[in-house]
Amino acid sequence: MPSLEQLLNFDRLHVWHPYAAMPNLLPVFPVESAQGVYIQLMDGRSLIDGISSWWTCIHGYNHPHLNQAAHAQIDRMSHIMFGGLTHQPAVDLAMKLVAMTPAELQQVFFCDSGSVAVEVAMKMAVQYWYNRGLPQKQRFLTIRNGYHGDTFAAMSACDPVNGMHHLFGNILTQQYFADAPQIAFDDDWQQRDLDSFAALLAAHHDRIAAAIFEPVVQNAGGMRFYHPEYVRQAKALCEEYNVLLILDEIATGFGRTGKMFACEYAAVCPDIMCVGKALSGGFMSLAATLTTREISETFAAGEAGVFMHGPTFMANPLACAVSLANLALLESYDWQSTIRSIETQLKAELEPCRSLAAVKDVRVLGAIGVVELHDPVNMQAIQPRFVEEGVWLRPFGRLIYTMPPYIIQRSELTAITSAIYKIVDRI
Ligand SMILES: *Cc1c(COP(=O)(O)O)cnc(C)c1O
Repeated sequence: MPSLEQLLNFDRLHVWHPYAAMPNLLPVFPVESAQGVYIQLMDGRSLIDGISSWWTCIHGYNHPHLNQAAHAQIDRMSHIMFGGLTHQPAVDLAMKLVAMTPAELQQVFFCDSGSVAVEVAMKMAVQYWYNRGLPQKQRFLTIRNGYHGDTFAAMSACDPVNGMHHLFGNILTQQYFADAPQIAFDDDWQQRDLDSFAALLAAHHDRIAAAIFEPVVQNAGGMRFYHPEYVRQAKALCEEYNVLLILDEIATGFGRTGKMFACEYAAVCPDIMCVGKALSGGFMSLAATLTTREISETFAAGEAGVFMHGPTFMANPLACAVSLANLALLESYDWQSTIRSIETQLKAELEPCRSLAAVKDVRVLGAIGVVELHDPVNMQAIQPRFVEEGVWLRPFGRLIYTMPPYIIQRSELTAITSAIYKIVDRI
């Protein structure tokens, strides 16, 4: 057994971490195990997880229901190819997703990660218009401050500044970027918020296959909560201009915002919807792209006769079985009131941060609490401070935020909000 020091040393020199340099200059903390909302570090310390392993682990770690579903599935088969074969976990999960999502979404494409779900959605939109005899509709309209993943098509729809699009020059498709919505979630709606989106649509709809954005909450692109009316009117405009609407619910889906899906705030059903992240309860990677019969039924008659996508690990049975157990768990308790109490507590306990000198804004929606600072945080300095306080958070840019597991107890959430106050106070 290598020592902890050897492990960290090899890690630092040879193992890439997300958005890291090589050798890695930022601290990483070795994890021994995780249970409920607690992350057990190898040095013996225990941390309360305030961000659910990037918003995935909604029911906490090592959950007996999910473990049991995984064990049962492993004993049958952990994987089988999906070309020419099918299985109960995929069909059951598809049935569940069709039932949970807005009614028109009837067809499910399973894939491995959120970014791929977005790739699939974008390809589906382009191929749909090809099927319909409009092959010039190949571009996308999106809104600034969005985040849709790190693969090329997904990245082309991310915020061009945050995503450093200039690094990738010509290989990144140029999309149309509307101004980010400015009217906050619960402010009074003002029509001009949609002007930029509407103008781009009017000018370029002939070439636009779909609009793509995150409904109501922009997540990794700035943790911004905007007015549901934007989503509703954007959908109406898309219909008027013969442009599809792709809603990326990868971060917002499965209850996080207080609705099962954020599009429900606007009572909008997209033409294509992407889900991922919390789908498997953080157990393993699985995502899906859902669409309507109207779109899916054009493929058989198109030139290819099929939709041109099919990942090797498509509908992995283990991931499907665990996801099914996770969604059954979500439906087994009153998650709406769970999210409402997290929201009430976050509002009460984060509000005092507003008076701190470093703080620009405090906002809460559902189980998402955000403290926005005037200046970017120093990650190298701030991450270890949170660890010293016994909580796991991962601030980025000017944002310190929490998206805790839904199972978090009041006292544990207070530990997170107190740590945020204490550390922001010292900035
Ligand atoms: C995380 C995220 C993605 C990308 O998902 P990965 O699983 O990291 O590929 C796409 N869209 C949104 C809104 C996300 O939050």
